[in-house]
Amino acid sequence: MQELLKKTAAELSQMLKNKEVSSTELLDLTFKRIEEKDGTIGAYNSLTKDIAYETAKSVDEKLKNGDNLPKLAGIPLALKDNMNMKSSYTTASSKILAGFKSPYDATVAKKLRENFVPVIGKANMDEFAMGSSNENSATKIVTNPWNVKKVPGGSSGGSAAAVAGFEATLSLGSDTGGSIRLPASFCGVYGLKPTYGRVSRYGLIAFASSLDQIGPFARCAEDIALTMEVISGYDNHDSTSLNIEVPEYSKLMKTDIKGLKIGIIKELMGEGLAPDVKAAIEKSIQTYKDLGAEIVEISMPHLKYSIGVYYIIATAEASSNLARYDGVRYGYRAEGAKSLIEMYTKTRAEGFGDEVKRRIMLGTYALSSGYYDAYYKKAQQMRALIKQDFDKAFEKVDMLLSCTCPNTAFDIGSKVDNPLEMYLTDIGTITINLAGIPALSIPCGLDSEGMPIGLQLIAPVLKEDTLLKSAYNYEQATKCNELVERIF
Ligand code: GLN
Repeated sequence: MQELLKKTAAELSQMLKNKEVSSTELLDLTFKRIEEKDGTIGAYNSLTKDIAYETAKSVDEKLKNGDNLPKLAGIPLALKDNMNMKSSYTTASSKILAGFKSPYDATVAKKLRENFVPVIGKANMDEFAMGSSNENSATKIVTNPWNVKKVPGGSSGGSAAAVAGFEATLSLGSDTGGSIRLPASFCGVYGLKPTYGRVSRYGLIAFASSLDQIGPFARCAEDIALTMEVISGYDNHDSTSLNIEVPEYSKLMKTDIKGLKIGIIKELMGEGLAPDVKAAIEKSIQTYKDLGAEIVEISMPHLKYSIGVYYIIATAEASSNLARYDGVRYGYRAEGAKSLIEMYTKTRAEGFGDEVKRRIMLGTYALSSGYYDAYYKKAQQMRALIKQDFDKAFEKVDMLLSCTCPNTAFDIGSKVDNPLEMYLTDIGTITINLAGIPALSIPCGLDSEGMPIGLQLIAPVLKEDTLLKSAYNYEQATKCNELVERIF
């Protein structure tokens, strides 16, 4: 029975329809696996068993009555702990939100409910999604299911580790500068950052609002497509969501890629790239050639500024978004303050971790009247140039390709004392958020230590179908989706 956990969401959906398994049985198996594994992996901050079993019961009832099931009904899914779901603890892995229970559903949670997808728990993460290794979580450490000495990547480390560790079939994460793609790459699974506005952010705890986007994790391309069909779409609660029809990605992806023009980003293939990662990416390029794609080299002259630009814009927006945690409205309140102001400051001093404080200070500084022009305004101007680099590239090619990260998962503790070095792991991913375009990380091999390597596919606005089609063809040719089964 345990072997069922290896199956994809698409396969399990079919099995549910054929009455070969029930949704309740799937949950039993998943929770048993969590009980066995999560003591070491630490992917979950909390479990939502009651909510999950209630959903599974409705699914089984529907199956018994011969009713049609919506897509992904009955498939166990984990939500990153920065997405509100009514009656669930939602902490963003921060002490300042300890004990906070959501009074409402985020739009993604509502869509999952409407599609009868059982949400099994809230996944651990870097505090307020700030980090690349999950080491900034105030709750507990997340380990990489491939090697417990290594980080799972961040900030959606719990969401990635849950799927890689077979503790969930699917999960959702959020990606502001790579937080879906980086952990997907470190854990050997698939992770998609959709186009900005494709998935509603209503009910997602805001980090940097002009960059944040929700997206799925899975163990194959088709499951990413199916999850996107469930969570995408216009939402009148989120004015940045796009009122454009959601395509049937899972159908569109099953066509060949002959003649597809793929650009290789020159600046991400040189200095700083680990030799094993470089070799794996070069092999992937060859696979795409064999599949009939045309390969060209593309230069992105402003890419080198993207880390600086991102860490100004993201911290500036975060300093404003995090002003709301004041000890009055949500979660934690410090004891023993003698005035209102002291209560605010004590609550924030005790409630936020070091990285969050560092970002609030950086962001406040960048926005201050004396420095606004020098930092924030300059960063916005540079953001426009970075976006232009992509516009120009997409005049020549249909898709871009790079590593997701220049290195594979590193040892826990090896970068925590050096925030700048940690920020550099984001070089391949953050540019995408600055441009608002979609990108998908897929597994493409293992390094000499046996850790997964991620390949990043990047497309123009709303061309998620190109990414999925390319991932699907690559998967058919290489069976890269089966790599993760080694750690079952
Ligand atoms: N690692 C980046 C950061 O720390 C990205 C985080 C994210 O995408 N949420 O800001």
